[in-house]
Amino acid sequence: MNFTKWLEEKNVDLTSCTDTEAYNSLLAFTQEAAAKQVSGEGKKRIYYVSAEFLIGRLLTNNLLNLGIYEEVASALEAAGKSLGALEELEPEPSLGNGGLGRLAACFLDSLASLGLNGAGIGLNYHCGLFHQVFENNKQKETPDFWIGEKSWLKKTEISYPISFGDCTIWSQMYDIDVTGYDGRTIPLHLFDAKSVDETMVSDTIAFDKSDKLRSLTLFLYPDDSEEQGRLLRIYQEYFMVANGARLILKESVERGSNLHDLYDYAAVQINDTHPTMIIPELIRLLMEEGIGWDEAVEIVTKTCAYTNHTILAEALETWPYESLEKVVPQLMPIIDRLAVRVRRQFKDPQVQILDDSDRIHMAHIDIHFSHSTNGVAYLHTEILKNSELKAFYEIYPERFNNKTNGITFRRWLYSANPELTALLEKLIGDDFKKDAMELEKLAVYENNPVILKALLDIKDANKKRLAAWLKEEKGVQIPTDSIYDIQIKRLHEYKRQQMNVLYLIHKYLEIKKGNLPKRPITAIFGAKAAPAYTIAKDIIHLILCLQELTQKDPLVSKWLRVIMVENYNVTAAEKLIPAADISEQISLASKEASGTGNMKLMLNGALTLGTEDGANVEIHQLVGDENIYIFGDDSDTVIKRYQDWSYRSREYYEADQRIRAAVDFITSEEVLAVGCRENLERLQKELLNKDWFMTFPDFDSYVKTRERMYDDYEERMEWAKKTLINISKAGYFSSDRTISEYNKEIWKL
Ligand SMILES: *Cc1c(COP(=O)(O)O)cnc(C)c1O
Repeated sequence: MNFTKWLEEKNVDLTSCTDTEAYNSLLAFTQEAAAKQVSGEGKKRIYYVSAEFLIGRLLTNNLLNLGIYEEVASALEAAGKSLGALEELEPEPSLGNGGLGRLAACFLDSLASLGLNGAGIGLNYHCGLFHQVFENNKQKETPDFWIGEKSWLKKTEISYPISFGDCTIWSQMYDIDVTGYDGRTIPLHLFDAKSVDETMVSDTIAFDKSDKLRSLTLFLYPDDSEEQGRLLRIYQEYFMVANGARLILKESVERGSNLHDLYDYAAVQINDTHPTMIIPELIRLLMEEGIGWDEAVEIVTKTCAYTNHTILAEALETWPYESLEKVVPQLMPIIDRLAVRVRRQFKDPQVQILDDSDRIHMAHIDIHFSHSTNGVAYLHTEILKNSELKAFYEIYPERFNNKTNGITFRRWLYSANPELTALLEKLIGDDFKKDAMELEKLAVYENNPVILKALLDIKDANKKRLAAWLKEEKGVQIPTDSIYDIQIKRLHEYKRQQMNVLYLIHKYLEIKKGNLPKRPITAIFGAKAAPAYTIAKDIIHLILCLQELTQKDPLVSKWLRVIMVENYNVTAAEKLIPAADISEQISLASKEASGTGNMKLMLNGALTLGTEDGANVEIHQLVGDENIYIFGDDSDTVIKRYQDWSYRSREYYEADQRIRAAVDFITSEEVLAVGCRENLERLQKELLNKDWFMTFPDFDSYVKTRERMYDDYEERMEWAKKTLINISKAGYFSSDRTISEYNKEIWKL
């Protein structure tokens, strides 16, 4: 059924509708259409369990995947409405923090598109991640209620009583149909607490965390800087997996499992450690069904697989024994037995589940009691095997494997960059939509001036589109004839936005001295900082101060603009990425597990300025030295520098005049005039006394490489050729490839 007919049947006259009414009709129509699509079938089903699914707005993507975009657009146009305007009415579900949640969303899209029998399992946070606003050059967090009266959520019949140490909370399962290519779908199951109460939240993100019944699913990762917040996180994690485990067992039995053969009916992928408790919970539930201890452990080990996302020690979850005991006493006999089993088998203290300070290491449960542990890029997996998880790798070499991350091209190319997609279709047909490696065919045009010019024109058009959107939505104006040099990602010291700012201060000072660049530069940031992450917020403060300074200075503003886009999310990413000339991927080597922003930007013809870190290593290998800008120390050098404690940031400060000038500038009168002394001094001290993520040792090569990039940008045809090669080599980073590998090597559906 098409949209026009559907409207007739429902007696809806678009011409007399408000935009909101029209949007609601379109939502209902699209939901019905999605529900009618086929889902993957088969005996075995993959359950992707994740605390985050950063799915982004769904309307455009669904219309494209269902193949009804054109028809809907023209039906709306005939009624004097614009699809573009309706798209902007959709609130973005803020069910994730960043890369990890976005990866889960890309994976659902690929599972659906490949026709695999899969489902996502997560939580239905009512406010999700906070909404970021800037006030007095600082980040302020406000709640982001994304669930309106009408939304993509469909209430289901499923509801379970979930017991905790001190209460029982009833769940309510909601589904979102995730569409893939050719209109296939899979369900995303989101569990909510029936008793949740949105009125607990007013205009800040503070709320009474002790009232679990009413607050359980209000926020994603409540601020865990205090005890109550940490406890609530454990409640959330158990609530997610207890519901998930019940659903998985119920559905597997319905498909014919007798539970002894659960692994033939279900594969459970544990996305980072947040869902770890699904392991003891499944064991517990199987034992309740009469299965003995040893067999239950074996069944669950064969069913579950674990993905590691980080080597940052502070991000590897451990919980105090007594906290788990308080929240989930029923799991403790199981966890105790697992810990004893490990202790009997292995003497090495590094691989124990329970450590000497009575903390439970979630990742250790995952590695011992699942059949697969994977890293998310080649370098990351190598570091896991050879250093971070070496003790485990020696025990279970056959369990370790790599699955380099990917992104769905359906969102990050076809939907986000329709002009580039149209050019590609014209040049190489549309086979690349089913097999992304077909993009390689583009390489035959690498010396074709007409095509190279077309690529430059598309980039220009996307830059103008971005500038218009920024003006309309965020109230900032950026020049369209400048280089767009973009760093968009969560704010974290290891990602080194602070190094980017130091460069920009250096550039600012150079311009003041009269050393003008060949062409104006627009440096764009988008980043949220965790509410309790002080230094990250200080870095945002410095960026915003610099934004104000560059804007106000009549000489500088002609040549350099610093822009920080408020509330960076998927919607913003979709506007920013197609417009980027330069992709800043400047994490300290060894620290970024993979990155996926780097892939999105490459696919859209931005050139990477990056370290040999995460998936940058693979991008480098694919495009060759000529088509990427690599700088800085490699991971071996960095790891060694950490091991021998030899780094003193002050020595670099004293030896390099540019570093000294930039760092001193942070607390100069100019910056203090627009900023706050406390924040700026704290950041300056941090850099001078610690600089834990080693920005100074890489600074010289960063400056030189960035300057070389700006010079090369002037060779427009050469530059276009490099972007063409980047696009043509991006096929490897399709999440369809990643998911095929997971299936072939881990899930075996
Ligand atoms: C892709 C994406 C990320 C991850 O970016 P990285 O550069 O890989 O850290 C984070 N947030 C959003 C909104 C994204 O789309």
